[in-house]
Amino acid sequence: MIQLHNLKKVFRTEEIDTWALREVSLEVKEGEFVAIMGPSGCGKSTLLNIMGLLDVPTEGTYMLGGRDVSQLSDTERTKLRRGTIGFVFQSFNLIDELSVYENVELPLLYMGLPARERKERVMQVLDRLAMSHRRKHFPAQLSGGQQQRVAIARAVVSNPKLILADEPTGNLDSTNSKEVMNLLCQMHKQGTTIVMVTHSQHDASFADRIIELYDGQIVQHAEL
Ligand code: ADP
Repeated sequence: MIQLHNLKKVFRTEEIDTWALREVSLEVKEGEFVAIMGPSGCGKSTLLNIMGLLDVPTEGTYMLGGRDVSQLSDTERTKLRRGTIGFVFQSFNLIDELSVYENVELPLLYMGLPARERKERVMQVLDRLAMSHRRKHFPAQLSGGQQQRVAIARAVVSNPKLILADEPTGNLDSTNSKEVMNLLCQMHKQGTTIVMVTHSQHDASFADRIIELYDGQIVQHAEL
């Protein structure tokens, strides 16, 4: 599903070059669940953003589903992302002006699904994450944990082939964390490929494999 070869990413500013990724080569097979761990600042989010077509590598190749997507234009990346990837952002990234329902419905609107099917799918996933009673509320009216559950609902509602999750349980209490991990595990069982950044050893234990990053490089692979 994903093949990264000698991927490098440098953030250049006038004063300093920051090598967020020094050289990362990695394969994620279709249907695999991979957890990425490592200390703050080691490049986890940068790696996930590149995999999620939200950013481009400075050097190296990124093959997604057998296609070289390393240097696509913004438009091509957006199109491919909407059709393939569900992304859970660490900072939720919900749209403040849209209700919970409308935020979750957005990927289905991009897919051009008819209204009835959209409603069915949105309500199903909101029920699953115990958020359907808040569907008319706006993000500012929700707690951090509730916003995260809406962000996860939005990422999974289109049944994407690939889910990328940046610390999906980082803002949740243990009950909600469990529900989110159950949902990810269920999607994994149904064949979805998942790459998750996490600080939680417990959450990482649900993955097939843990990858440890340090200073922009993979330092350890562990099969579980
Ligand atoms: P992690 O997710 O492991 O905490 P990040 O991928 O966010 O790490 O960051 C890796 C390194 O790249 C850090 O040193 C960070 O400060 C730097 N970095 C990330 N994004 C940017 C950016 N947009 N501009 C400059 N430096 C950045």
